[in-house]
Amino acid sequence: MHATIQKPLKEIINALSKDEKVFVVGCGNCAEKCRSGGEEQAREMKARLEKEGVRVVGYAATASGSSLCKLAAAKKLLLEEHKEEVAKADSFLILACGQGIHTVIDATGGAVVHPGCDTIFGGETVSDDFITEYCSLCGECIVEATGGLCPVTICSKGLLNGPCGGAKEGKCEVDKEQDCGWQLIYDRLKELGKLDLFRQYQSPKNYAKRSNPRSLKLEEKRATFKSLAGLRTIGQDR
Ligand code: SF4
Ligand code: SF4
Repeated sequence: MHATIQKPLKEIINALSKDEKVFVVGCGNCAEKCRSGGEEQAREMKARLEKEGVRVVGYAATASGSSLCKLAAAKKLLLEEHKEEVAKADSFLILACGQGIHTVIDATGGAVVHPGCDTIFGGETVSDDFITEYCSLCGECIVEATGGLCPVTICSKGLLNGPCGGAKEGKCEVDKEQDCGWQLIYDRLKELGKLDLFRQYQSPKNYAKRSNPRSLKLEEKRATFKSLAGLRTIGQDR
């Protein structure tokens, strides 16, 4: 899940030119679940913009459960289902994550886009009302040694070898509301009977694997991951 929150209306309006004709686009998957950009929010955004004098030629969102960041879905939505309204638009206001924004550029062959949301993290949907971050997408997973808990993400300093020593009564010195990530890792390893792993040194990460942009090419029997660290292909021998 890509967690997103809507930008303030004033910021959205300030980015638009005078008399710019806008088409509002939402996403029926992550943005709908975050209540930042499903069909309902796209319709509401149209009404809010029009109230402020913005010219809105239409709105649309991919069907509930369908992602805007799927190129075929974005093309169908904008080039087929809403072709006539889209033809009148100077630009698109996207209520979705940054992946959705770029998908609209690709789907339309390079249209002008405006972000309507801030993309804040990728997370677990704990419940309909709560999403939280457990992975920072580093490209080199080390949670085998930490009982499945990610120190890069749940420790405020992202320490690979913790704790830092600043925790008090299990709370982080950076944010006293937050549990110390390394205390959680210790408790988890203890519960699993794997406390020996707590002393295992973690080498510095190869941040070239985290460099942007990254891509993953999926073929029938293999997958190729591309980052600054080079190409990593798996499954070619299957
Ligand atoms: S180490 Fe943490 S940030 Fe990296 S892939 Fe694993 S869970 Fe994600
Ligand atoms: S107190 Fe714990 S979570 Fe906070 S920075 Fe130190 S090790 Fe990380």
